[in-house]
Amino acid sequence: MARPEDMWQCQTTNCGYTYDPDRGDRKAKIPKGVKFEDLPDSWRCPVCGGTKACFQSLTGVRFKEQVGV
Ligand SMILES: [Zn+2]
Repeated sequence: MARPEDMWQCQTTNCGYTYDPDRGDRKAKIPKGVKFEDLPDSWRCPVCGGTKACFQSLTGVRFKEQVGV
């Protein structure tokens, strides 16, 4: 089970997709065990197509703040 700080939820309206590093993202050929931080910048939310900057961790950290974009 991934830790809450490693789970990232898409914040766009009506999406609600959560990236779980224990599952990866089969559609984008992301294998299990890849952390959200290590996803390619070209990765998009498989549900709504949002960028990584649309995501927030379950502990409340916004990705774009963490990387200083
Ligand atoms: Zn989304």
